[in-house]
Amino acid sequence: MDNVTRATFDEVMVPNYSPAEIVPVRGAGSRIWDQQGREYVDFACGIAVTSLGHCHPRLVSALTDQANRLWHLSNVMTNEPALRLARKLTQATFAPRVFFCNSGAEANEAAFKLARRYGNTRSNGRKNGIIAFDNAFHGRTLFTVSVGGQAKYTQGFEPLPGAITHLPYNDLAALEAAISDDTCAVVVEPVQGEGGVMPATREFLEGARRLCDKHQALLIFDEVQTGMGRSGKLYAYMNYGVTPDVLTSAKGLGGGFPIGAMLCTEAAAQVLQFGTHGSTYGGNPLGCAVAETVLDIVNDPAVLAGVEERARLVRDGVDAIGRRYGVFAPSRGLGLLVGVPMAPAWKGKAKDVVNAGLKQGLWCLVAGPDVLRIAPSLVIPLADVAEGLKRLDAACAALVGAGLKTAAAA
Ligand SMILES: *Cc1c(COP(=O)(O)O)cnc(C)c1O
Repeated sequence: MDNVTRATFDEVMVPNYSPAEIVPVRGAGSRIWDQQGREYVDFACGIAVTSLGHCHPRLVSALTDQANRLWHLSNVMTNEPALRLARKLTQATFAPRVFFCNSGAEANEAAFKLARRYGNTRSNGRKNGIIAFDNAFHGRTLFTVSVGGQAKYTQGFEPLPGAITHLPYNDLAALEAAISDDTCAVVVEPVQGEGGVMPATREFLEGARRLCDKHQALLIFDEVQTGMGRSGKLYAYMNYGVTPDVLTSAKGLGGGFPIGAMLCTEAAAQVLQFGTHGSTYGGNPLGCAVAETVLDIVNDPAVLAGVEERARLVRDGVDAIGRRYGVFAPSRGLGLLVGVPMAPAWKGKAKDVVNAGLKQGLWCLVAGPDVLRIAPSLVIPLADVAEGLKRLDAACAALVGAGLKTAAAA
């Protein structure tokens, strides 16, 4: 009865996921161990979530201290960790106001609902258009898959929320042509994560800011994946010098404990008056105590400089491997959100690299079928970066060897 394995998944879980064959049971820093005691270097962090590695001692003590003090009150009462975290987030960013929730999708749901009320209070029900971009990802609630706009995530869930337009990413002319006074918000990931680790251009974000100002639309940055230090700055907008009206954060914010946040301007905040939106668990003491500690650790010039240093090592390493085996095109990304496009001959085979990596004791990710995604801990020991790259090299060697064998056999 206690004996569970990967096979148990196929018996008892809803089949909406297809997890790897291994079942990890323990993690420490940038290493994890599976049921068989095999060890893996973690270049994934879940999906850019455990940004300070596994079981970071300061996060463990923040969580256990709070667990021994107070778990839950609801939003009928506020709590000290939430107030401290909110104050620190407002001090560290453009935003004077914060709303807490439990995930990225919920943070975006709050942002999109806010945008609709913002538009509706400034028009006779016409200012409700939301502009988003092709290959976006904003979460899996019905509103967020609709704004994300990818057919594979919306098909079969119709009818969908309306008045959402999708434009090519990084195409400022298309945005200029589509935006109007009936637009309530433009929603953009500063680096598209799920969409292949595709950074926005500075001109695009600057132009989006200017057009939103012109048409009194809210500029929403989805920083669920890029936020909390991953870009090398606390939030990716700081790399671009373009400030949004609303910013959503989750993933790395809790370092592995579920928490989401929507940060916004004073004017945007005033749209969500008492009773207009809420969450039972949003801003709970456990999540906020952990996230406060994550923020304390990450928002430090030395740690953020360390992200840049590690990013250079990873980028140089994967580019060298790409040249050696011809499997990768040059890498892209921002900070420790690294995308490695497959070379033309290996198109569609990013997942094969991940699987070959697991065989060598390395965990990395894909971002679509054509891009390998590497998102290690922001504080991964340099020796673990080197070891992970060594294992990636071995994985690519095995893959290329297998490819040659297949070609010879054919
Ligand atoms: C992961 C992600 C989300 C969704 O977050 P969840 O916590 O899974 O709901 C939204 N936006 C972006 C950019 C993401 O990477």
